[in-house]
Amino acid sequence: MLRRTLNALTPLRDAQTPVEPAQDSLWHVLEQSVDAAFVIDSRHRVVLFNPAAEALWRCRREDVHGLPFTRLLGEVQAVGTTESTMAALMGSHRDATLLRPDGSEAACSVSMSKVVIGDHVFHTAFVRDTSDQQRQLARLRQLSIVVDSSDNAIFISSADREVVYVNSGFTRMLGYRLEELRGIKPSDLLSGPHTDGSLDERISRAMAAGEGLQTEVLLYTKAGRPLWLSAAINPVHDEDGSLLGLVSVLSDITQTKMHQVLHNKVLDALVHEWSVADVMTLICREVEHIAPELTVSIITVDSEGLMHALASPSLPEAWARKINGLPIGPRSGVSGVAAWRGRSVLVKDIASDPLCANTRHLTTPLGLRACWTHPIKSSSGRVLGTLSFYYRENRGPEELHERLADTCLHLCSLTLEREQTNERVHQLAFYDTLTGLPNRIMFSAKAEQALANVAQGNGTAAVLFIDLDRFKRVNDAQGHAAGDGLLRDVAARLSEELGGINIVGRQAGDEFVAVLPMCSAEQAGSVAERLLGAIAAPTTAGLMTLHPSASIGVAMFPDDGRDIDLLVRHADMAMYRAKRDGGSGFRFFSVDMNRLAQERVSLEAALRDALRLDQLNLQYQPQVGGCGGQQLYGVEALLRWHHADLGVIPPSRFVPVAEECGLIADLSLWVLRQACAQMADWRRRGIDIPRVSVNVSAINFRDPQLSLQISDLLDEHGLVPDDLTLEITESVMLDPDPDVLENIEAIYVLGVRLSLDDFGTGYSSLSHLHRLPISELKLDQSFVRDIDTSAIARTLTSSVLRIGESLGMKVVAEGVETESQHRFLTEQRFPVLQGYLFSPPLPPGPLEDWLQAQGYAAMRESQADAALA
Ligand code: C2E
Ligand code: MG
Ligand code: MG
Repeated sequence: MLRRTLNALTPLRDAQTPVEPAQDSLWHVLEQSVDAAFVIDSRHRVVLFNPAAEALWRCRREDVHGLPFTRLLGEVQAVGTTESTMAALMGSHRDATLLRPDGSEAACSVSMSKVVIGDHVFHTAFVRDTSDQQRQLARLRQLSIVVDSSDNAIFISSADREVVYVNSGFTRMLGYRLEELRGIKPSDLLSGPHTDGSLDERISRAMAAGEGLQTEVLLYTKAGRPLWLSAAINPVHDEDGSLLGLVSVLSDITQTKMHQVLHNKVLDALVHEWSVADVMTLICREVEHIAPELTVSIITVDSEGLMHALASPSLPEAWARKINGLPIGPRSGVSGVAAWRGRSVLVKDIASDPLCANTRHLTTPLGLRACWTHPIKSSSGRVLGTLSFYYRENRGPEELHERLADTCLHLCSLTLEREQTNERVHQLAFYDTLTGLPNRIMFSAKAEQALANVAQGNGTAAVLFIDLDRFKRVNDAQGHAAGDGLLRDVAARLSEELGGINIVGRQAGDEFVAVLPMCSAEQAGSVAERLLGAIAAPTTAGLMTLHPSASIGVAMFPDDGRDIDLLVRHADMAMYRAKRDGGSGFRFFSVDMNRLAQERVSLEAALRDALRLDQLNLQYQPQVGGCGGQQLYGVEALLRWHHADLGVIPPSRFVPVAEECGLIADLSLWVLRQACAQMADWRRRGIDIPRVSVNVSAINFRDPQLSLQISDLLDEHGLVPDDLTLEITESVMLDPDPDVLENIEAIYVLGVRLSLDDFGTGYSSLSHLHRLPISELKLDQSFVRDIDTSAIARTLTSSVLRIGESLGMKVVAEGVETESQHRFLTEQRFPVLQGYLFSPPLPPGPLEDWLQAQGYAAMRESQADAALA
C-alpha cells in the first residue's frame, strides 16, 4: 500500500512541486476511495490514479500518469478540445465516455471538481461505470416503444390503484390519457351500464391472495362504446414482498366475445324453449348493447308474403303495428325490398331513397335515417324474415356491424326454422293430418283441462262419440280419396256446429269425439240431434252424391265417469248401441251398456278357454232337396258352445266377440277341421252325406294361408273340394283387402264352392254377384218368415230365386218352419230348403238317426239339376 502511495505520488515529486500536507491527505483519501478517481494537474495531466480507477480502466497507474486526461475520458457526444471536454465534465455527474488503453469504451458518469491546494490547482474526477445503467435505460426506452406500439391497453397502477402509467395503446383503445386518469380508479372510469359489478372486489381478492387475475369484462370507452376486454391484472411486489402496484394488460375481444356471447345466450334461450319473439328480442337487445349506435328490428314474412314485426324492442309498438300485414315488394321499404329481392339492401338516406317511398312515413319520424337490412333465409334458401340495422345518421355499416349481421343472421334463421319445425312437429304430434282436428293425445289433454274447469264450477259436461254409419262402404266402393273427403267434410261440419268452448277431435278412422263443457243431458241430446242433421246433409264423393249418417253415443260428466278416457269409453258403448239399433241416431250411456261391455270381456276369456279345452262342438242341420223330393242336399255345420256356468251361448253372441278379439282364425280353423273330420267319418261309415257347409267369417278371408289350409285339410281327411262349401257373408265381397280377392279366387280354383249366406240383408250389389265365383245363394230367413204375411216378401223371394238362377247359382231358402212356407217355396221351385220344418241343427249321432228315419237319399248335383228341370 505504501509503495503504491509512493508510486502515486512520484509524478508529483518529479514535477518538483512542493508537497503541501493538505495535498497529501487528499491524495491519501483518494487512494482509499471505492470509486474510481484520478487527479489532473493544471496541465491536465494525470497525477493520481487510484486502484479503483486501475480496475475500471483495466490498466496500471504507471501507464497513465502524466497522460492528458482526455486519453481517459471523452465527451458523450464528440471528442472536443481538452478545455471543452473539461468544461463539459465540470460539475456533478456528467455522462461521459470512458476510454480504455486497450481501446474499449464504456459509458460512465463523471463528477469533476476543482481542488486548489496552496498555489496548485488540481482537478479531481470521480468516475462511475454507468454502462449497466445505460443499458437498462436503453432497454427501458425500447420497452416503452414496444409497449406503446402494442394494440393492447397497458396501464400500471400503484398499490392504492391510482394509475401511474398508461401506454398509447390504452389511449387508442379507451380514449383516455394518463392525465385524465389521475386520482380515479380505472375500474370506476371504465365501468358502464353492463359492466360486471364484482370486478373491483375480484381484483382486491386476487391481490390479497398475492395472485394475478385473468378475466373477461365489458368496459366502456371514453365515447361510451362497450368493449369486451380480456384483462390480465398482475401484482408487482418489491423484495420484501410488499405490493408496489399492478400491471394490467387489456386486449379487445369484442369481436370474438360478441360472437360467443350472442351464440351462448341465444342457444341457451332456444334450449329453454323461449318463444320465438323473446329469442328475437334478445338478439335485438344484445346487438344494440354491443353497438349502441344501432336500432335493430326483426320481421317475419309469412307464406303469403306479408310482413309481421317480430322483435324491435327499441322502436315504439305503434311502428310494429303499422308494419304488420304490409306486403313485401320492390318499393315496400328496406325490409320489404330485401325480403322481395332475397338480398341485403342498404339505404343510406331513407328520406330520399325511392325504395322507401311507401314506408318512410313510418321510420323518419322516429329519427331513423339509414337502414341496412338482410333477408333471413332457411337452410333451403326460403326467405323467412328480415334483420334490419337502423342508423340515426346517413351512413352505412362498419366492420363490427358486418360481423354482427353475420352472427345474427345465422341465429335468426336457426330460431325461425326451429320454430317452423316445432310447429310442424307439434302439428304432426297433436293434430290429425287429414282433418286438422286435435288427435287423440291433444283431445285428451284439452278435454282433461275442460273437465277440470267444469268440476271446479260444479257443472256437468257431455262427451260425444260420433261414428259414421257404413263408412267402410264408401271407402271400399268409392275409394279412399272419397272416404278421406267425406271425413274432412264431416270434421268441418262438426267443427262448425260445435266450436266455441267445445272441443272436437278425431279418435280414429271414422270416429270423432267431442267434449261439451257446461252442458246438461238435455242440451247434449239436442246437440246430438243437431249434429246428426248436419252430418246428414248430402255431400259429393267423386261423381257420387252421398247421404252420410252417423251414430252418436253420449256420456255425461260426472255421472258416467270423471276422467276423459272412461267417458270416451262409455260414450263409445252408447254409440255402439245406437249403431246396433239401426244407426243414424244417438243413445245415452247406461250402466247396462257397461255391464254388456264387461260381459264381452269375460266372454272373450271364456272363449279362449273353450277353444283350448275343446269345449265347443258342431251340430249339423240338413238341407233338403226342394220340389218335394226326399233327398238330402247337404248339411250346414253350426257351432255350439255349452259353457259350464253360463250355459248355452249362441254363435250370434260369441262369433262377433271372436272376430273382435282376433280369435276367429283359430275358431274357423277348428270348425273346418271338425267338419272335415266328421265328413271323413261319415264317408268311412258309408253314411252318404253329399256335402258340408261351413260358415266362415269375412276376417278369415284376409288370411293369405286360408286356401292352403283348406286344401291341406281336405287332403288330410281324404275329401274332395266338392265335399265342402264355404258360407260367406256379403261383407267378404266388400273387403278392399287384396288378399280377400286372392283367397276367393284361390278357393274357387281349388274347387271348393262358395255360398253367399243371409242374402238380401246386407248391401251387396248385383254387380259383385256376377263378378265373383259364387255358386250358391242363401236367401235370408227373414224373407221366408214373412212369406205367409207379406206380398213383398213373396215377390222378393221369387225375385232372388230368379236372379240366382239367371246367374247359374243354386238358391237355398233358410228358416223354413211351416208347411205353407214350404208349399210356396216348392211352388216357386226352390231347389234346396233348410229349416226347423225338416230338422233343427243336430249332433252327428241324432242326425244319422234322423237321416235313417226320414229315408233320405243323397242328392247329387245332377239330381238337383234334374229336380229343377
Ligand atoms: P246362419 O249361417 O244363417 O245359420 C242359420 C241359423 O239359423 C242358425 O242359427 C240356425 O240354427 C238357425 N235356423 C235354422 N233353421 C231355422 C228355422 O227354421 N227357424 C229359425 N228361426 N232359425 C233357424 P245359429 O246356429 O244360432 O247360428 C247363427 C249364426 O251364427 C249363423 O247364421 C252363422 O252366421 C253364425 N255361425 C254359426 N256357426 C258358425 C261358425 O261355425 N262359424 C261362423 N263364422 N259363424 C257361425
Ligand atoms: Mg250359414
Ligand atoms: Mg243364414
